[in-house]
Order: sequence, then structure tokens, then C-alpha cells
Amino acid sequence: MANCKICLLPGDGIGPEIIAEGCKVLDAVGAKRGMTFAYTEALIGGCAIDACGTALPQETLDAANVSDAVLLAAVGGPKWDTTDPDAPRPEQGLLGIRKALGLYTNLRPVQIFSALADASTLKPEIVDGVDMMIVRELTGGLYFGKRERFYNEEGAGTNGAAGQRAYDTLEYREYEIERIARQAFEAARKRRNKVTSVDKANVLETSRMWREIVHRVHDEEYPEAELEDLLVDNAAMQLINRPADFDVVMTENMFGDILSDEAAQITGSLGMLASASLGDGVALYEPSHGSAPDIAGRGVANPLAQILSVEMMLRYSFNRGDAADDIRRAVTAVLDEGWRTGDIKDADTPADHVVGTAKMGDLVVERL
Ligand code: NAD
Repeated sequence: MANCKICLLPGDGIGPEIIAEGCKVLDAVGAKRGMTFAYTEALIGGCAIDACGTALPQETLDAANVSDAVLLAAVGGPKWDTTDPDAPRPEQGLLGIRKALGLYTNLRPVQIFSALADASTLKPEIVDGVDMMIVRELTGGLYFGKRERFYNEEGAGTNGAAGQRAYDTLEYREYEIERIARQAFEAARKRRNKVTSVDKANVLETSRMWREIVHRVHDEEYPEAELEDLLVDNAAMQLINRPADFDVVMTENMFGDILSDEAAQITGSLGMLASASLGDGVALYEPSHGSAPDIAGRGVANPLAQILSVEMMLRYSFNRGDAADDIRRAVTAVLDEGWRTGDIKDADTPADHVVGTAKMGDLVVERL
């Protein structure tokens, strides 16, 4: 593709700092591989609330819809934290854009860069060979169900007094489970062809339906894939007990949210993990971490998860495995040479090899 239209959503906190490095690397790999990129920047999250009173302005959705791919950094921060259910919150931008673009699949690769094997809090022999893909359902379940909060309700307080009551609804439809199951089996086909489906079928009706449908899709369409079921509490344990055994881990929205952060931690740094959110149209790419308000504005954030999101964008939206591989090789080389941002340095890292956000981006560009 000659000129790819990218919608940039820097968001809040470290977002603007890391997305700049993503673009730097994208332009460099484009120059090498004959691709050019045209960027349109739009607001999402806290900065959009400040400017427009909503976390997802219509202009942002319009910009995303006319682009070939969306590159997002992160949203949120203490400035916008609130328990007022009527106040706008930055995450509404994220949930809203996922829903509006129909991004029902979230792919999170969890791989260990060998230079960073020591960064994991798990023993090296446990993390050796970890290479899994978390496939999370992204537009259904508890995060999108009906929710409500009642105040001053008779009997909801202590000793029968009036108090508060709230509920969230966990709901799935058959087609939502069928399509995510297919995405997981398709992803597995390109890997080691093993799918672990995570649910809570001993308690939840949605999980019982999930399990039934996943098995039907497997038996009818992907019988050659290996399929195992795991209850979510057991999955949380097995992920740190035997992480290298997992290939594709497929699960519903909230379980996936939690388990993918747990899996991320196996690698030792959240600052290293990218994600892709795919649907039937424009796809969105973002780091797995948040806006890191504790280090925002200091130029020390790790831009590699953002840069690796660019790698995923080239692979999934532009079908350019060659350019994607260039980025992966460049990142691997930079790490092998011992360059580290603060979050991934260790006691053996020489002080002159601890670099900031922009320098890390420059190093990746040089290795390209
Ligand atoms: P976080 O991921 O922002 O930060 C967790 C810890 O990891 C912090 O110590 C942070 O400094 C560090 N960290 C994260 N990314 C890093 C990077 N690239 N380089 C170096 N260190 C990094 O999670 P949190 O602190 O729970 O949340 C902060 C804000 O981000 C909250 O407002 C939250 O709602 C939001 N959030 C947004 C997203 C998203 O945009 N997708 C995801 C999670 C959290």
C-alpha cells in the first residue's frame, strides 16, 4: 500500500511521548520498505473530556472510520478518576471506540525476549519458551451489559436501613461466542494449534453456553486443533505454574482483561507488550499498559510496547510481514545490545545503557 492513512490517538499520561516513537519507527520502516503513512491525530480519554466534555468525540470516531488503521497509546489518569456514575470517564473512550468499530477480538501476544528473561519474577526455567497468544472477547460480557445503581433503597444498608444497591449484567449471544472461537482457532492454526478455552462453567450460565458453543465450533470446523477447557481460577494458577504450555488462550471479556495482565507480568514488563483489536473493518493497535501517570512527562517511559503495536499493525492491517519482521529484529537487536529503559533495567545494566523514551525510539530506528 503506497499511502496508508493512520488515525493517531495519543490519549493521556505517557501516551503522547510513546506514540511519537511509534510513528518514528513506522516512518523509518516505511522508508525502507516503500510505504508512506499519513497521520490524522484525534482526541480520546481524559484529554477529550477536558476539550469536549466526552471521552469519545464524534470527530474522533469519524477520523478512525476513514483511516486504514488506528494507533492508540493509552488513556486515563488521577485527574479524571471519579466514582460519580454520571461523570464522563476516560475508559468510556476505549470501550466506545471498540464497540463503534466492532472490534470484538483482542489479540495479545505474550513472548519472552531472551535478553529480558531475567526480568521475569518467575524462575528462568519456568519462563523459558513462553510464547502464547491471548484471544480476548472485547465487545460483550460484563463490560457492556446493563448496569445500574440505586440509592437509599429500603433494606440495602446495615441492619435493614436504607442503602445502596448496584448490578452489572454478564450477557453473551451465540454469534459473539462463535466468531471469537473462530478467531482463536484461526490464530492457533498459524501457531501450535492448541486452544485453551477459559470459563467459569461450574457457576455461570454464560460460561456453560460458552463451553458448549466453543466445542461445537471446534468439532464442526477445527477438529484438528487441540482444545482444552480450564476454569478461570485454575487458569490464573496454571498461567504462572506452567506458562510455556499455553499456545492460544481464549476467553471472555473480563476474564481476558485480568488474565492478560497476569500473562503480561510473566514477561517482566508491561512496557513490552502490544495488542491488536480486530473486527470486520478498521483495526486498532495499542500497548497493553495504561497511561502510567506516575512517570508521565519525564521522557522515561518505555516505548517498545507501542513500537511492537506498530509491528502488529503492519502484520494484521497491511499484511506486511516483511516490515513487521524488520521491527521485531530491530527491537531484539537493541535489547540484545543491552539498551534498557528504567522499567526493564536490572542491577547489571550499565548506567550509560539506561535510556529514555526518545533515545529508545532512535535506537530501534538505527537498527532498522
Ligand atoms: P499502568 O499500566 O498505567 O501502570 C502500571 C505501572 O507500570 C506503573 O508503575 C507505570 O509507571 C508502569 N508502566 C506502564 N507502562 C509503562 C511504560 N510504557 N514504561 C514504563 N513503565 C510503565 O496502570 P495503572 O497505573 O493501573 O493505570 C494508570 C491509568 O491508566 C489509569 O487511569 C487507568 O485507568 C489507565 N489504564 C489505561 C489503559 C488503556 O489505555 N488501555 C489500560 C490500563 C490502565
